[in-house]
Amino acid sequence: MKITIVTIFPQLINSFTNNRIFQRALENNIIDLNIVNLRDFSNNKHKSVDDYGFGGGVGMVLKPESFFDFFKKSGAKNIIFPSPQGVKLNNEIAKELSSKNELTFICGHYEGIDERVVEKYVDLEVSIGDYVVSGGELPTMVILDSIIRFIPQFIKKESAEIESFEAGKLDFGVYTRPETIDNLKVPSVLTSGNHSMINQYRKRDSLLRTLIKRPDLISKLPKEDKQFIKNIVKDIL
Ligand code: SAH
Repeated sequence: MKITIVTIFPQLINSFTNNRIFQRALENNIIDLNIVNLRDFSNNKHKSVDDYGFGGGVGMVLKPESFFDFFKKSGAKNIIFPSPQGVKLNNEIAKELSSKNELTFICGHYEGIDERVVEKYVDLEVSIGDYVVSGGELPTMVILDSIIRFIPQFIKKESAEIESFEAGKLDFGVYTRPETIDNLKVPSVLTSGNHSMINQYRKRDSLLRTLIKRPDLISKLPKEDKQFIKNIVKDIL
């Protein structure tokens, strides 16, 4: 997948890509990452890319010219604008975007990007939640990280399938060595070597967590899972 990120802080992106998920995707040529400094497309000698907003009362706004110039020269496709006004990111959106062979992210700053850029070029505005952060770089990396894990060559299918929200429920709890710390023990079934009991335990743990932490997800679960939850609750009572 060809990924282009247009930003006024390229060094910020570099610091985020220095993690296992991005390094593996880059090394295996699953993604081709292209970081574009918006200032390289500035039309003035000071390389400035922002200006005061029309109408007063707002702070600086990223000017449209550099974006227009970049889009005309690059022919970039599937333009995503991380924005608090976009559709809220979830598993389905991440999965859908993972099927594209090219994605372009434009990072806003200050008060945002001149609205005409959004009007003319943006295909999708994506929000990472109902709060405002100061720039589009972090949201871009959050969105991208959630997408990359769905690219089939990147992750073994089984391992993507057991993460939270796949199959509509939360993931089970995980443990590693040591088996005991401060008298807290790993559930004995996990060290029993009995795989069918382990699977049963994990299914129970996953559904119980969903019931406690995200009861809003329960109504969309398949009948079989709902019945399983009823049995768990009956057992507990
Ligand atoms: N004035 C704008 C916010 C500007 S914040 C508004 O209220 O809509 C500066 C930039 O940070 C935005 O252009 C966007 O790219 C990014 N950003 C801020 N909060 C975000 C969020 N919740 N999701 C995605 N991007 C966000």
